[in-house]
Amino acid sequence: MSEHRCPECGGPMIEIEVANGDAPLVMRSCSACDARQWSSAGQGIDLRAALRELSDTGGKQTRKG
Ligand SMILES: [Zn+2]
Repeated sequence: MSEHRCPECGGPMIEIEVANGDAPLVMRSCSACDARQWSSAGQGIDLRAALRELSDTGGKQTRKG
């Protein structure tokens, strides 16, 4: 089991998986300084990209009109 260390303070990070269709997002959160990292499919992504991924999920978008 690999342990992730916070790039900011070197503290231990907890890993939380967020369901996102085919490619679950992984959020790592530092329990010491609350720094966060997001990754998808083993690659680091930035928070904006993560949020965009999440907002694109949830099945088909329904449009009015
Ligand atoms: Zn930290």
